[in-house]
Amino acid sequence: MAIDFDERFPEPSQFVGFGQNVLESASESRDETSLQVALDHPEQRFHLFAGGKILVKKGDSPTATFSQADISAFDVMLEKAIFLGMDGIAPRLAAPANISEDDLDEPYHLYDMRALLYSSSVADNEAGACACAASLLHWHETNRFCGRCGSESRSMIGGYRRDCPNCGHKIFPRTDPVVIMLTTDGDRCLLGRSPHFQPFWYSTLAGFIEPGETIEAAVRRETREESGIEVRRVRYHASQPWPFPHSLMIGTYGEAVSDRINFDRNELEDCKWFTRDEVRLMIADEHPDKYRCPPTKAIAHTLIRDWVNAGAEGL
Ligand SMILES: [Zn+2]
Repeated sequence: MAIDFDERFPEPSQFVGFGQNVLESASESRDETSLQVALDHPEQRFHLFAGGKILVKKGDSPTATFSQADISAFDVMLEKAIFLGMDGIAPRLAAPANISEDDLDEPYHLYDMRALLYSSSVADNEAGACACAASLLHWHETNRFCGRCGSESRSMIGGYRRDCPNCGHKIFPRTDPVVIMLTTDGDRCLLGRSPHFQPFWYSTLAGFIEPGETIEAAVRRETREESGIEVRRVRYHASQPWPFPHSLMIGTYGEAVSDRINFDRNELEDCKWFTRDEVRLMIADEHPDKYRCPPTKAIAHTLIRDWVNAGAEGL
């Protein structure tokens, strides 16, 4: 069957961190008035960023979404604001602000995006919009000049494009595709340990897709390069917007057709096969050697957990 409409819904991508985004980007109706209309709207809401971190108000109902009145105490650079999209009738914007962490009073804090994700500081559907904001603001900061002629470019259509006034070159926000894969061999799966992981963590392998590659080819190449394992069939499972700074994690399963690991010691400090029973203990944080899997909001966790739960019948 070419298309299997019996796949589960809600789809697995809706359960990963940053996987829900309530905003409608209104891409079909954007024009040069969109940003000003959003700024003038009485119901508009903002996400504020400083130094790559997002402003969060802690408390009983923590939030990273603020009204104009909420942000009036901060030095917001509205001239650099981006119109992210609509939440129902309310426009949502993102803007950089001159905020120093040391000067912030309770209950305000600056969170990096990983802390926002793993601390569950805001609702899941709010985090998705925050990821969109973080990626777009970073893209603007790092694409101020035209790549063709070097002139300063301008933000257009509310921030979803930059145009060069000198040569007319148009630049669109970029998304970098990354494959992240759980390689399986019957009742075992392949997990690796990067030197920068937290102690006892083992996770799926991952890597950027290169120009000219399919997703499947990238899964096979990255798995071979990092672990020495050959992969044959590849199946897509879920994806995750990953605002570090603007990637899309494409989560897949790969079928191993070799067994002997020869891992890349520049990338990994360990890589080995784990049985399904072992991984079940790792997810529950009950492994006798203290081995653990990445936390629930990470797509690596989704891939590992769904494989464990699928049992011997497979996914
Ligand atoms: Zn130019």
